[in-house]
Amino acid sequence: MSKYWSKVVRTLEPYVPGEQPQDKQYIKLNTNENPYPPSPKAMLAMKAAAGEDLRLYPTPTCDDLRQCIANYHGLTKEQVFVGNGSDEVLAFCFLAYFNPGEPILFPDITYSFYPVYASLFHIDYRTVSLNDDFSIPAEKFLQNNGGIIFPNPNAPTGRYLELEAVEKIIRENSERVVIVDEAYIDFGGESAVRLINQYANLLVVQTFSKSRSLAGLRIGFALGQGALIEALDRVKNSINSYTLDRVALAGARESFQDEAYFQTTRGKIMATRERVVAVLQSAGFTVVPSAANFIFISHPEMAAEVIFRQLRDYGVLVRYFNKPRINNYLRVSIGSDEEMDQFVAVLQKIVHKS
Ligand SMILES: *Cc1c(COP(=O)(O)O)cnc(C)c1O
Repeated sequence: MSKYWSKVVRTLEPYVPGEQPQDKQYIKLNTNENPYPPSPKAMLAMKAAAGEDLRLYPTPTCDDLRQCIANYHGLTKEQVFVGNGSDEVLAFCFLAYFNPGEPILFPDITYSFYPVYASLFHIDYRTVSLNDDFSIPAEKFLQNNGGIIFPNPNAPTGRYLELEAVEKIIRENSERVVIVDEAYIDFGGESAVRLINQYANLLVVQTFSKSRSLAGLRIGFALGQGALIEALDRVKNSINSYTLDRVALAGARESFQDEAYFQTTRGKIMATRERVVAVLQSAGFTVVPSAANFIFISHPEMAAEVIFRQLRDYGVLVRYFNKPRINNYLRVSIGSDEEMDQFVAVLQKIVHKS
């Protein structure tokens, strides 16, 4: 705290990202990064873009990338907004669609950035309690609200909400914007994108960080009808017209062209997930059903926090949230088969020792 801080900064409780330690080599299963490298075609395009043209500003409208994403999803360029990671896109959404004094709704257990954006932009919110099995109770989103946001699959649980239930939430809240944060949708769920032309209040947010192995490039995007996209453009052009650099634009575009690589890597991650889930279940762990590139696990006899610390001592990083209802769970990202084998071996050692 300093006397020079603004009133807003004094009251902030910023998001705490998963650690990226530099002290030694860890098996990193704590931030849901993809274990596989980005598409080789994307890497080539980025190297080519890192040239003399960097003296020039990138195109502020990002037309090529937006067109490419639009083609992929059967939309028009006017239905696509791109930003510096979906975190930035989500922050812009809070400014673009929500108002102080009109509480928005999101689940009580969810992406912890939502309450942070809400407090930064003075948006009130009410949380909706997840069911005991961590599924999202769609019917509880049919109450008066100033807008709705939830991830599907949810984070950090990995649970997927059937598209039918998602559609019901969108349909029954036609006066409010419903944001579906699909950061993990490519790992087994069905996207709400195909509902966009039907519902003017639906905004779908996706990212290149998880299924496209480009967390380090920082690209996310939003899909929705033109009027919603225009609101995001207005916010962006009031903060920073060039949120995506030339290298990122080139890499992202090429990544979307390399469908074969995308299918192979996401398929591998889903197969690894299913294999690890079976192993952990037979070792006595409770595993929440996951349609994401991570799993949410708990052991009946050993406290999650203890397992978390011991894993760390063995060089394995996972994520532990010391929060009500989930403080006996660990979120474990799905790494490569070799990484997961090492994780399981260490975990067995820890649990058997106790
Ligand atoms: C990872 C994640 C994001 C942010 O992704 P970036 O595009 O890297 O900013 C957004 N929402 C959820 C639920 C996430 O887990």
